[in-house]
Amino acid sequence: MAIERLLFADAIPDAEEASLVIFGVPYDGTSSYRPGARFAPHAIRQASYNFETYHPDLKVDLGDATFADAGDLPEVGRSEVLVETVEEAASSYVASGRRTLALGGEHSLTAPLVGAHEDVTVVILDAHMDFRDEYLGDPHSHACVTRRVVDQVGVERTLVVGVRSFSKEEAADVAAMGLPHVSATQIVEEGLEDVLSTLEDRPDPVYLSLDMDALDPAYAPAVGNPEPLGLTPRHVVEIIQALGSRIQGFDVTEVSPPWDQGITAALAARLAREVLAVLHAEDVI
Ligand code: MN
Ligand code: MN
Repeated sequence: MAIERLLFADAIPDAEEASLVIFGVPYDGTSSYRPGARFAPHAIRQASYNFETYHPDLKVDLGDATFADAGDLPEVGRSEVLVETVEEAASSYVASGRRTLALGGEHSLTAPLVGAHEDVTVVILDAHMDFRDEYLGDPHSHACVTRRVVDQVGVERTLVVGVRSFSKEEAADVAAMGLPHVSATQIVEEGLEDVLSTLEDRPDPVYLSLDMDALDPAYAPAVGNPEPLGLTPRHVVEIIQALGSRIQGFDVTEVSPPWDQGITAALAARLAREVLAVLHAEDVI
């Protein structure tokens, strides 16, 4: 008997037929506070069916777009195996000219995804700097992911947005290395002008990583490390719309379904659909 797997709403099952491939990464092996992100790919797919296919602001219908959901990568234990598994899968999609959209899982998966995409500026939306060189002895911890991104692309091609939590040691490293970042406080007080002008000054394709804790816990309560005083969903939508077809890869991470009453998975699904809608509006998918 055939077992049907749940696809992200409006996706087709065959990656060969699409210019963008969604895949899930059910991993929370380095979680430091509230585990459960390994259940998020399924929860986000379920939540994706809540929405109309039509996007009234962009005037496009995702029912007319062609994108695939290839399912989940295998569950793994050790973080170094996770890194290898994600980079291998993503590299095969990128090598055949496809964009990627990853449903985490915890934030660790972003480093190997960036490794698979060449010549990208990396925009990381996160409450946390994630800039430790290692955490609890693990350099692939979710708490180190921005550091691992910078190892690969350099600080000049990295931008952290919405940050409001980091250690004294991370602050010193950020200052010494000159890591560009825009705080949640600045965005709440002044809007997105600084973020959008920085992105305009960098014409490269973009890898966009959304740690859901960038959003205020009022909007995204069920995350691994909730941090008050954050961004609104509208901020994230504006960044996605400003980037448009420059988005080569996207991930949404750190949703923890055991803590969720559906709000956080719904917002994660909706923001993933925003990325799909802007790519469809610009005829990419
Ligand atoms: Mn993070
Ligand atoms: Mn975070």
